[in-house]
Amino acid sequence: MKIICIGRNYEDHVSELQNERPDSPVIFIKPDSSIILKNQPFFIPDYSNEINYEIEVILKICKLGKSIEKKFAKTYYDKVGLGIDFTARDLQFELKSKGLPWEKAKAFDGSALIGNWINKTEFKNLNDINFSMNKNGSLVQKGNTSQMMWNFDELISEISKFFTLKIGDVIFTGTPAGVGKVNRGDKLEGFINNNHNFKINIK
Ligand code: ZN
Repeated sequence: MKIICIGRNYEDHVSELQNERPDSPVIFIKPDSSIILKNQPFFIPDYSNEINYEIEVILKICKLGKSIEKKFAKTYYDKVGLGIDFTARDLQFELKSKGLPWEKAKAFDGSALIGNWINKTEFKNLNDINFSMNKNGSLVQKGNTSQMMWNFDELISEISKFFTLKIGDVIFTGTPAGVGKVNRGDKLEGFINNNHNFKINIK
């Protein structure tokens, strides 16, 4: 399986990192080796002094598809959840400034937390999902899927132009504003529509 991630999908996050507003979604991939195993902590790697959390709504692909039309996209995912796209921000800025690929900063071991999956049918409106994250008990990030520049169906259609989607693939749909640094000892907790979804310790 693979993880397909979307960058710059919430305007407030685009401006906090002083990035250009994209004309089409920014897409990158994480390999399956980036996934944190169930109930394991996140270990800060020694090649970064600034690991950021990015809370994101994630989708699980349930059907093989290529060049999927927007109007059919909703049949290609059946589960929704929350994840963290851990990012070595210092390394990413360095790579970006040299025009180099982001993989070392975005796709390293442990860079993907996948929380609990919820059946899509349990959501009344997929374009109105509230999600948030607490760090050590205080709110640090919150968003609503209505704030996305490209919604789930538009993302699936765009991604599948370039990458065949396979059963079990996961899509990270982008982060809202409020990204920040993690330190050893921090505890992160994610909520979707006010329901607890994951908890992870930083080591
Ligand atoms: Zn992200």
